[in-house]
Amino acid sequence: MQPNVKPIDCLHFINGEFVPSGNGAVFENINPATEEVLGTVALGGKEEIELAVAAAKEALKGPWKKMTATERVNILRRVSELIMERLEELAVLESLDTGKPLWLSKSIDIPRSAYNFQFFADYIRTLGTEASQSDDIALNYAIRRPLGVVGLINPWNLPLLLLTWKLAPALAAGNTVVMKPAELTPMTATVLAEICRDAGVPAGVINLVHGFGPDSAGAALAEHPDVNGISFTGETTTGKIIMQTAAKSLKRLSYELGGKNPNIIFADSDLDEVIETTLKSSFINQGEVCLCGSRIYVERSAYQAFLDKFVAKAKELVVGDPFQEKTKVGALISEEHFHRVTSYIELAKEEGGEIILGGRRPEGLEKGYYLEPTIITGLNNNCRVVKEEIFGPVVTVIPFDTEEEVIEAANDTHYGLSATIWTNNLRRAHRVAGQIEAGIIWVNTWFFRDLRTPFGGMKQSGIGREGGVHSFEFYSELTNVCIKL
Ligand code: NAD
Repeated sequence: MQPNVKPIDCLHFINGEFVPSGNGAVFENINPATEEVLGTVALGGKEEIELAVAAAKEALKGPWKKMTATERVNILRRVSELIMERLEELAVLESLDTGKPLWLSKSIDIPRSAYNFQFFADYIRTLGTEASQSDDIALNYAIRRPLGVVGLINPWNLPLLLLTWKLAPALAAGNTVVMKPAELTPMTATVLAEICRDAGVPAGVINLVHGFGPDSAGAALAEHPDVNGISFTGETTTGKIIMQTAAKSLKRLSYELGGKNPNIIFADSDLDEVIETTLKSSFINQGEVCLCGSRIYVERSAYQAFLDKFVAKAKELVVGDPFQEKTKVGALISEEHFHRVTSYIELAKEEGGEIILGGRRPEGLEKGYYLEPTIITGLNNNCRVVKEEIFGPVVTVIPFDTEEEVIEAANDTHYGLSATIWTNNLRRAHRVAGQIEAGIIWVNTWFFRDLRTPFGGMKQSGIGREGGVHSFEFYSELTNVCIKL
């Protein structure tokens, strides 16, 4: 099916203007669902980052600084409205770039992006600071100031949603930013720059530089001495490299990294509800969600019943053209990622696993990076397929006998992003939730987000938390003023 919006060529946005790279370099943007070229993207590097950071630094002193909080909040609300006014266009561009079904872009990615601006605009209005009286000797109070120039480095799986999750609180707190979207998904970030300009964000406050990570725009941004902080979402291995680069100027870092999240199903849970949600937590967005529950542990007495129903329902998921309404699973992001994900399916066989569903490119889909929803059994917790992040529509299912055993298995990983627990036993829910090493735990649900709550990972899944006040802790500096009484 042909989408009704044309793909765009992507330029940088620096100091209020759309500009090409100084040397005119571009790279191709590929549609993962068709393998066709969507357009070109300006290829930025050190020079463009230099210009963008200089513009952002200058803009810290300009009209943005002089605006009242109400004026800034009104601009953020306008950004939110404009995103919703351009919902159809943004959703099509997001699906063209990522290969995700259009209904998903329309119902989650884009509306949630708009909501990020609305939420943080409202939140900053209610945010106070602390005061402490030291007997009758002194009065202390804290003032909140922007962190300064902030670099936002983003992944390709939820491009606009995750970019706005960083941009909205960064702007609400009065910062200026340089954004580096993933090279595979440049289009909605480019439209967002236009929307921010149209909403009245002054020149230089938001800057956008396209390009790659290592030896390119990403590394140059992480290295720049005038960038005060980096908010990064992406792979754990990339996070380690950025940390080394950013250490040279001791930047503040907020990290949302990889995950290998357990989905723990006790026999006393409501099986139909479990299956309905587990289909989503396994295969939504082609399994390319950091929060996906790709390690499924099922209490042995419910194991076979779960597996039979889960496989039967997963078989019904339609894989294919992101622009068909019936499509539930679209295309993986790139050829390279397709090979990475399928290499884990081969590894599962070598490790003694049984592929009980999927594992192949669906018949009739020769073009595009499509993969069937894949369910693997017969592996144990020591297998690499169970330990490493695959980031595709691939899950393992493992039975367990006791609560202690499953807690140990769930924690037996260097990741600690999220976990889901299914049980109707109230005491068990609290008991297990308190022992799982993860930053986000859902009981009898998945993916439900209240933006006031802390979001982030433990262990190698992240550093710090974002959401509500936690975002503002990252994006602002607190200065304590002590006055002798
Ligand atoms: P990635 O780490 O390959 O790339 C992310 C971004 O970092 C891209 O913009 C890339 O260009 C840039 N980058 C790469 N190398 C860099 C370098 N040396 N210096 C500076 N920038 C560099 O990640 P990805 O493949 O785009 O995204 C998938 C990963 O993101 C998965 O691991 C997933 O779990 C994770 N993720 C985590 C969360 C979360 O909230 N914890 C959310 C979404 C995705």
